[in-house]
Amino acid sequence: MDLFYNGNVFTGDSFVEAFVVDGNHFVATGRSEELLEKYSYATKHNLNNKFVCAGFNDSHMHVLNDGYSLETIQLAGHTSSLKEMKEYIAEEVKSRQIKDGQWIRARGWNHDFFTDVNRFPTRYDLDEISQTNPICIVRACGHACVVNSKALEMIGIDKNTKQVDGGRFDVDENGEPLGIFRENALDLVYAKLPQPTREDLKQMLILAMKQLNSFGVTSAQTDDFVVFHGLDYHEIIQAYEELKEEGRMTVRINQQNHFTNLKSLKEFVEEGHYTGLGDEFFRFSPLKMLGDGSLGARTAFMSAPYADDPSTCGIPVYSQETFDEMIGYAHNHNMQVAIHSIGDGILDRIMNAIEKAQNENPREDARHGIIHCQITRPDQLDRMAKLNLHCYAQTIFLDYDIKIVEDRVGKEKAASSYNFKTLMKKGVHVSNGSDCPVELPNVLGGMQCAITRSTLKEHIGPYLPEEAFTVKEAILSFTTEAARASFEEKIKGKIEKGMLADFVILDENLFEVDPYHINDVKILQTWMNGKQVY
Ligand SMILES: [Zn+2]
Repeated sequence: MDLFYNGNVFTGDSFVEAFVVDGNHFVATGRSEELLEKYSYATKHNLNNKFVCAGFNDSHMHVLNDGYSLETIQLAGHTSSLKEMKEYIAEEVKSRQIKDGQWIRARGWNHDFFTDVNRFPTRYDLDEISQTNPICIVRACGHACVVNSKALEMIGIDKNTKQVDGGRFDVDENGEPLGIFRENALDLVYAKLPQPTREDLKQMLILAMKQLNSFGVTSAQTDDFVVFHGLDYHEIIQAYEELKEEGRMTVRINQQNHFTNLKSLKEFVEEGHYTGLGDEFFRFSPLKMLGDGSLGARTAFMSAPYADDPSTCGIPVYSQETFDEMIGYAHNHNMQVAIHSIGDGILDRIMNAIEKAQNENPREDARHGIIHCQITRPDQLDRMAKLNLHCYAQTIFLDYDIKIVEDRVGKEKAASSYNFKTLMKKGVHVSNGSDCPVELPNVLGGMQCAITRSTLKEHIGPYLPEEAFTVKEAILSFTTEAARASFEEKIKGKIEKGMLADFVILDENLFEVDPYHINDVKILQTWMNGKQVY
């Protein structure tokens, strides 16, 4: 039994000074004096006035892909110019001693930050790094990648190759591929990457869970099934099962089961899977589907052409029929659905499908949800509330999107987008997350963006300040509301008697610190299931 006293403990409702953990649950909260007397035999931890709240729950991310990314060359801090990016990759290839012929994998570039050129890199840029190693560099958004000529040769793409549905590879004026792949065309590249073993998978998961703990995260709702092309998802489930048996899970996992066609979804359901199956360490949660791409790459699907590129509306991943079919099937088989939607065009299709499923077979608390929910029209905000949808927001995206949203969609549509507070006022539950590895799983950064509606460093903004969260709302979006997303609000997300003992100790009180410095607050300790994991 452990007694934590003398702290500023935010329970989720109110403040207390102390709490007691027995095994993996909280058993009491209250005043220090009172609990010290009552639980005099417990191991005592003086919190020295530090701030404590429930462990953070990232309601949409990609744990396995994060672990995989942590193993790849990280370009995020090296993308100020194409030149810098190329030099950094070359240095890393040297220092990691990548052998001739081996794949060079990197991730996190963003050409919007390039100061020397205003375009995507191409195969020819990467050929300057190596002509004997295949190279694949993935854009920060994960919706586009670039490969060099060696990789193109291995993939077997040339000017005669046909384009793919729901994606494309870019070609020059002579029809020669430029090495740039978008959306579904990414699979052409990923199919050629070497497959990981079960042990590799476990290593990646551990790497990611350690990183999550360092950000105070104790629960992650994660989309893991389609990271590796052709890898049977049962391998991934098995990797988690083994980690659980070995006592090496330091983050609770809710799987957002990603399927791309009805056949594989049916197989999954017929194997006996449904939303909620599992235990507090690993649980199968909603059906996850992709709807469209990203705003940065202009692949998010809009109901009207992009303001800064009238030649495109973006790329929808599925037709209305496919959404109807898959969402309807999941809905009728005890599954919640959570669908990625960035543009308002795709949101229409997704809500049509959910409404159709509900009309045919009304379910009272299905908690279907929209992941990202970025570009929205006022009528869609009302429709989300009417359909009782959950919103899986990533307020950390504001850090980048504030700079591009008006250019991409125009002033009018930007004013009704990222409208998370408006959604809350209409009765929609809004949970928060990072979409890591798209962003770092930086919860405090996400809270700062939610509260200030400004970028983290230069404080550009505020963008729609009336949409700002209070400190309390920001914390709840990463705790109680995230727990609600997975139907687990009765077992976690608060520091309360009977709840799972997941909590985080911070250096400063989030309610008192300057909102523009929330991101600088240090995570001192992270506890999961009654054990210190960071
Ligand atoms: Zn995602």
